[in-house]
Amino acid sequence: MEKIHGQCLCGAIRYTSAAAPLMTAICHCKHCQRQTGTAFSIVVAVPKGSLVFETGQPATYQDVGDSGLPVFRRFCANCGSPIVTEVDAMPTMDFLKAGTLDDTSWLKPQMNIWCTSAQPWVKMDESIPCIAGNPPA
Ligand SMILES: [Zn+2]
Ligand SMILES: [Zn+2]
Repeated sequence: MEKIHGQCLCGAIRYTSAAAPLMTAICHCKHCQRQTGTAFSIVVAVPKGSLVFETGQPATYQDVGDSGLPVFRRFCANCGSPIVTEVDAMPTMDFLKAGTLDDTSWLKPQMNIWCTSAQPWVKMDESIPCIAGNPPA
């Protein structure tokens, strides 16, 4: 797998991850809808510790997950792009927002998650699982 590179809209933050992605999911949770301002977010999980910020440092909004544990939503304070989410309930991974990747040609979402809050007009890919909430650990 090619090394992961990406950046926010304004370019103040650039990141890289040397590790191969663990999974790709489309998240329809209400929090992702609000944070991204759209119907869902596409997340690429990378192993915790593999993500390096080459330029800039993101700001953090500390959210609370369904588990009751903190969720750290990191974003560019200059342009507002969501960059990565760290979920205390899933401590082995970081969840990159795939829209910030330089190269998305390899992206292939493996599952839809939080399908219970998906917007009704979103057409699901029926060839991949549609999970009501968080993916099973
Ligand atoms: Zn930015
Ligand atoms: Zn979500």
